[in-house]
Amino acid sequence: MRAMVLDKPRQPLRMAEIPRPSPAPSQVLIRVRACAVCRTDLHVTDGELSHPKLPLILGHEIVGSIEDTGDKVTRFHGSERVGVPWLGWTCGTCEYCLEDRENLCDRARFTGYTLDGGYAEYAVCDERFCFRIPESYSDAEAAPLLCAGLIGYRSLAKAGPGKRLGIYGFGAAAHIVAQVANYQQREIYAFTRPGDTKAQEFALSLGAVWAGPSTSMAPVPLEAAIIFAPAGELVPQALRAVKKGGIVVCGGIHMSDIPSFSYSRLWEERTICSVANLTRRDGEEFLELAPKVPVRTDVQTFPLGGANEALSRLRSGKVTGAAVLVTEN
Ligand SMILES: [Zn+2]
Ligand SMILES: [Zn+2]
Repeated sequence: MRAMVLDKPRQPLRMAEIPRPSPAPSQVLIRVRACAVCRTDLHVTDGELSHPKLPLILGHEIVGSIEDTGDKVTRFHGSERVGVPWLGWTCGTCEYCLEDRENLCDRARFTGYTLDGGYAEYAVCDERFCFRIPESYSDAEAAPLLCAGLIGYRSLAKAGPGKRLGIYGFGAAAHIVAQVANYQQREIYAFTRPGDTKAQEFALSLGAVWAGPSTSMAPVPLEAAIIFAPAGELVPQALRAVKKGGIVVCGGIHMSDIPSFSYSRLWEERTICSVANLTRRDGEEFLELAPKVPVRTDVQTFPLGGANEALSRLRSGKVTGAAVLVTEN
């Protein structure tokens, strides 16, 4: 099969012909139709996340059809359309798994990071971590739901029920969260890179009540803020924007250092927290909710061989919505 392979960090991906993987007893073999490109993929290629599997096939927002099943597979019979998220395997026996917090599993494996992912024509995945994809979405439209959507949904839940919600960084996750938050009758205040009027217009088109540069204050005090941009300096800015008792949720896997700030920014029971990974329950809940909203994903497609270009466009903020690799096979 053809795959885009990362030999080591800080190098472009290499198009390679490699053997098609065969499913282990509890795995399914998936013919990949679409795989979205996530900011986490950039963190892996840039060496900001340590100890990836190498060589590695990136990609953890996979949509495809089941082509073959291992001997012990019981949930699928073949040809179903499925999606594969970032969480690719958990142990089921550590304290976190037993407490229903498998997102924090001590031995978790991650698709496109410690397991091969979907920048390829085929991928294998543990059947327990595959989701059925709602019919109303095309393959490319569904792909960003699997990380941008899921992590966004988990971040939104973590932000609590507050009505006025700030979102810092208006990319793939934010464009999905904004629609869900709107559906929940919340007000969205979108903060973008200063001067990025295109992203501000995009946010307004998705129902944000206000959009402006991240350096400015929101016009009203907020109950909660979610930070998707990997910029630590946004944490004290967001704390300034939330009112007493407010919460700031960091939705990314990596962020630059957070500058020190005065205790008064945190005082009055403001909270900062991060969101790590996802649970299968997040996935099931979100994929049931998405067609009801309905969440529309704005995708920019690239062929499999265009993965390096997709990554570099994401890096420079030139993707509106989500970049998705599509394989024609
Ligand atoms: Zn575990
Ligand atoms: Zn992701």
